[in-house]
Amino acid sequence: MASFRTTSISLRDLIGLDGYIAFENLRDGTGDFGNINIHPPSAILHPKSVSDVSALITHVYGMGGTSNLTVAARGHGHSLRGQSQAYGGVVVMMEDLKSNRSPVVVVEGGGGGDVSVHAPYVDVAGGMLWVHVLEECLKYGLAPKSWTDYLYLSVGGTLSNAGVSGQALRHGPQISNVYQLEIVTGKGQVVVCSPENEEDLFFAALGGLGQFGIITGARIALELAPKKVRWIRVLYSEFSTFAKDQEMLIASTGGANGSGFDYMEGFVIKNRKGILNTWRSFLNPKDPVQASQYESDGKTLFCLELTKYLYPGSDSDADSQQIDDILSKLRYIPSTMFQSEVSYFDFLNRVHPAEIKLREKGLWDVPHPWLNLLVPSSYVHFFADEVFGNILTDSTNGPIIIYPVNRATWNERTSAVIPEEDAVFYMVAFLTSVTSKAGFANAMEQNDRILEFCLRSSIPVKQYLPHYTSEEDWKTHFGKKWDLLVERKFKYDPLAILAPGQRIFQRTL
Ligand code: FAD
Repeated sequence: MASFRTTSISLRDLIGLDGYIAFENLRDGTGDFGNINIHPPSAILHPKSVSDVSALITHVYGMGGTSNLTVAARGHGHSLRGQSQAYGGVVVMMEDLKSNRSPVVVVEGGGGGDVSVHAPYVDVAGGMLWVHVLEECLKYGLAPKSWTDYLYLSVGGTLSNAGVSGQALRHGPQISNVYQLEIVTGKGQVVVCSPENEEDLFFAALGGLGQFGIITGARIALELAPKKVRWIRVLYSEFSTFAKDQEMLIASTGGANGSGFDYMEGFVIKNRKGILNTWRSFLNPKDPVQASQYESDGKTLFCLELTKYLYPGSDSDADSQQIDDILSKLRYIPSTMFQSEVSYFDFLNRVHPAEIKLREKGLWDVPHPWLNLLVPSSYVHFFADEVFGNILTDSTNGPIIIYPVNRATWNERTSAVIPEEDAVFYMVAFLTSVTSKAGFANAMEQNDRILEFCLRSSIPVKQYLPHYTSEEDWKTHFGKKWDLLVERKFKYDPLAILAPGQRIFQRTL
């Protein structure tokens, strides 16, 4: 760790920035959503231009062996275990970069030039939040294809992981829906890359945990935005039926332009009670949110969540018929159908009202010992039996999300790590919030028990939003991608300046 004094001295020469470097009031660069790891930096760069980011990294890189400074891009700081922090180093506030870089929406091609080939698309700053990308694109009747469940995350932050939600059913993760990136490498070079140009850096950065460069701009694929969505939740009492139906839906969706549903997720309800998931005795079948408040009466229930997009001018009878046809093939408990029509924006932004409520109760900024696992489909029944049947006692302290994802919609060349087994794997997310020390200890113990069970039973799970502290564990995590990761690190960030909070590489002098 660099001391405050050495950092301020070593950055003193960095003049002529469009933005500025702060050495005091560093609270904004400390901590994250996880609220578990809290490592203050020594300075914060508030960039106003890409050249500010480049100047900082060029400067730090140029100091070579005279410094051990590190640099972490901070998107919205919604990491869980300190990944966007730089202990004693410099945090770059990526959200500041957006202020003089509005999104540019390109609706259609203008005569065959190569930039128009992919239209419609949007060019955005890496620090822009997805909610603002959506708001801008909707002005043109367009929207990105692939999302996360929560929109107050930055473009660079989710692209550094993968960005997965129920739209992966059709389009794969967000990293499968990007045409181009602008990146400042660990040597300070600004590179525009795509599958056609500097493709190695392009694929390295996608899912690359911030290891190869700071994403300052991204060109994101767009599609026609629906006006409304039909939002459906139904319940199952058996995991096997629930999972078979989910996999049937994945198999029958038919890719980007096929028929069927446009979004699919699912979650587990077990002995649910308590303030984080208030139970109500009156359930309104026109409110899908209430499916999550179903009294499971000591049993475990599985909730399937689906949406069908409704476009302006489309035939609503035909839409309803298609929805009914598919629903008639599913084997949920018939009395548990919750459905309504909501605006597309409200559906995508559905976590935000819950955030507001939790904030009011002081329950948003609490520790979040989350565990996100990717489980190959051939192991998921075994996994579910033990984890939902024995290890988990309730789902009171936050949602437990589970849905299958098609491996074919992920590009092998990215740095993202997914299971190597099976054509389909399940995203399983234990999104726990805790309000006491004892609750924290219990949640961590539960996570350990789940991981130990997987290890003991040789279930080849991979962590999503991974957290490891030893090189051995990282090697195991990356598996056959490890050698490529090291090679790319040496090529793009040879001094290991970037994203130290991931704890994969140590800064070299
Ligand atoms: P940060 O926490 O700021 O950064 C994450 C990592 O990326 C750090 O290593 C950082 O240094 C690096 N980084 C940040 N910006 C850049 C950049 N521009 N260039 C290079 N590296 C960068 N994930 C999903 O996939 N699907 C979900 O549905 C989902 N839902 C979530 C809901 C909530 C409430 C929360 C808190 C998280 C959720 N996540 C989800 C996880 C989320 O995608 C990651 O935590 C993501 O990193 C958060 O983005 P951020 O902008 O806050 O990133």
